[in-house]
Amino acid sequence: MEYREYGKTGLKLSTVGFGVMRLYHPDIEESVAVLREAMKQGVNIYETCRHYGDHEVRLGKALKGYRDKVYISSKGHYGEVEALKKDFETSLKILDIEYFDFYQLWGLADMEGLAAARQNGVLDQLRDYQAQGLCKHIGFTSHGQPENVVKLVESGEFASVTVPLSLIYQRTLPVVAAAKKKGVGVMVMTPLMGGVLANPSTRLKEKLSGYTSAEFALRWLASLDGVGTVLSGIGQMSDLEENLKVGDGNRLSPEEMMKLDEVIKEFSGLDDKFCTGCGYCTPCPQEVAIPYILKFYNQAKAFGLVDWAKEQYNNLEQGHGWAPGMKADKCTECGECEEKCPHGVPIREKLKEMVELME
Ligand code: SF4
Ligand code: SF4
Repeated sequence: MEYREYGKTGLKLSTVGFGVMRLYHPDIEESVAVLREAMKQGVNIYETCRHYGDHEVRLGKALKGYRDKVYISSKGHYGEVEALKKDFETSLKILDIEYFDFYQLWGLADMEGLAAARQNGVLDQLRDYQAQGLCKHIGFTSHGQPENVVKLVESGEFASVTVPLSLIYQRTLPVVAAAKKKGVGVMVMTPLMGGVLANPSTRLKEKLSGYTSAEFALRWLASLDGVGTVLSGIGQMSDLEENLKVGDGNRLSPEEMMKLDEVIKEFSGLDDKFCTGCGYCTPCPQEVAIPYILKFYNQAKAFGLVDWAKEQYNNLEQGHGWAPGMKADKCTECGECEEKCPHGVPIREKLKEMVELME
């Protein structure tokens, strides 16, 4: 496994990081096995949070005997100090660890947000935890506008920043450059656009000989100067295997990067209001399965997998636990979801398109 200096923290993080958000296997022991295997294979950074269901329980179990070999990053909302304290202290207890290596302000969008975190005592509280050794480094995660995130990086308050970045969502590249200049470590989230780049894509495959689309997408990120670790949402052993390949430290060659330019040009016709499947827009009052439907939308529109998308779409409303929720035609266009989407996805418009596309 390749390890990289992480900003000015003095830590070396594995190029492959483990986002625990997608560890939803019904059998907890199965998740523990995937986490343990990652630890054995040298993945040393694990990203979690208080609000990912029972994932802290899973990670806590896997950490037994491995805590001193890995780094743990968690995050909490910055709007209210008591809520942050509750999350921070509960997480430590459930994970059964003494400290976090990183604690991040969750979803900090701009300098106004930072001013609020200063004013309401959240930042002081984190500094206090840091002084007590309960959290080694303070960072933030953001889906904000890149120009605003750059200002946050340059504020000097943070040792780490976590932003979405992928082959088909490159708007945050200036954040990576600013962070490198400032000595702030960068964790990349949604590297596979919520799984879109992990699924077989005939159009993409034609362009990328020798790699799966997921490996190419991850390798591209790992080849970027300034990226500290790529946090993939790993749910099962096969995801882990795919990710581990990229830990060999091999960069894409200049020829491959050039080939990539062609791919990017071809795919840049996609709008950047791309759904990453984060789920922040849910719940919908009509129980419309927004993230699922938009994933199928992405597959159909970006990669031409219309038949595959139809097949998946038709699993909705069938009572399957793995395809919960209603189809797009149940949307009443109330707009509640769009107010919550950090990427500004025009959800209603896309749902309408899907009703026609999936007929
Ligand atoms: S606009 Fe449609 S999908 Fe969004 S919350 Fe309202 S009913 Fe649900
Ligand atoms: S529509 Fe927006 S909030 Fe909902 S899952 Fe997609 S990116 Fe996330």
